[in-house]
Amino acid sequence: ITGHVGFSNLPNQVLRKSVKDGFQLTAMVVGESGLGKSTLINTIFNSTICQPREVPHPAEERPKTVAIENIQADIEENGVKLRLTIVDTPGFGDFVNNSECWDPILQTIEDRYDAYLKQENSVRRMKKVDTRIHACIYFIQPTGHSLKTIDIEFMRRLHDKVNLIPVIAKADTMTEDEVADFKERIVSDLAFNGIRIFQAPIYDDDDDESVGESETIARAIPFAVIGADPTKTIRSPSSGRRIRGRAYPWGVVDVDDPSHCDFILLRRMLVHSHMEALRERTQDVLYETWRTQRMLGMGV
Ligand code: GDP
Ligand code: MG
Repeated sequence: ITGHVGFSNLPNQVLRKSVKDGFQLTAMVVGESGLGKSTLINTIFNSTICQPREVPHPAEERPKTVAIENIQADIEENGVKLRLTIVDTPGFGDFVNNSECWDPILQTIEDRYDAYLKQENSVRRMKKVDTRIHACIYFIQPTGHSLKTIDIEFMRRLHDKVNLIPVIAKADTMTEDEVADFKERIVSDLAFNGIRIFQAPIYDDDDDESVGESETIARAIPFAVIGADPTKTIRSPSSGRRIRGRAYPWGVVDVDDPSHCDFILLRRMLVHSHMEALRERTQDVLYETWRTQRMLGMGV
């Protein structure tokens, strides 16, 4: 797999430099409806740009087609400017027939590859706009059991098309021990079913700090995430400071506290530590594979 060799040989300084110049990343959220996808997007962008649905629509009002929405913002993280786009997708539990619920998602991924390929093939040498999805955040229902068949089937179709990042949704509904057990279960289910999730590369010239960070992130996947409740003002019981989280009769969770959930790790991975790795694997492995297959399919 030549793509991997070239990729891991890229000097880190080159990557870090290009990161400084400002970057663009597109992530997509996928998963059953009601798992907190839109809420998590808002928490990532720290605003309420896309309205979370408080009351589930009655069955007859549910949309029959998938309407996919882009949410975009320029963010700055440690002096690094980044244009982050998150593609929100309606949950697939909304469909009467779930058996082909992945079609619109796969179609979107391929349409975006297509749009990029068109630019590459264009005679006019313009600056290319990267339309591709660099990461797919896949929401898993916090059941505590094993992965559902639909999740396995879905992720199996996604894993060679896009960088797959599984997350446990609404982690506040489980205890710490339950989360730990569920993570183990998911990791073994994924391995058993041959599903390849995105793995952070470790470079030869990485310093101990970045190796440590990559290992922390690798160990935490599937990230246990919690989306902040935007409707309440929540304060830290210890400092009285306003926090982003959720309040319960027995206390509060702080989404930005790494001892409460992995939200910060996910955010950091996307916009900082693994942004470039996600882009590189999309370019060198996933897109290249898709492009080759497509050329063969067209008989070129
Ligand atoms: P989506 O269909 O996946 O986009 O889900 P939404 O973001 O619309 O959220 C569905 C419901 O779950 C809303 O009532 C949210 O307030 C709630 N919710 C979202 N995130 C969380 C979370 O992390 N924990 C809990 N307990 N509830 C959440
Ligand atoms: Mg939603």
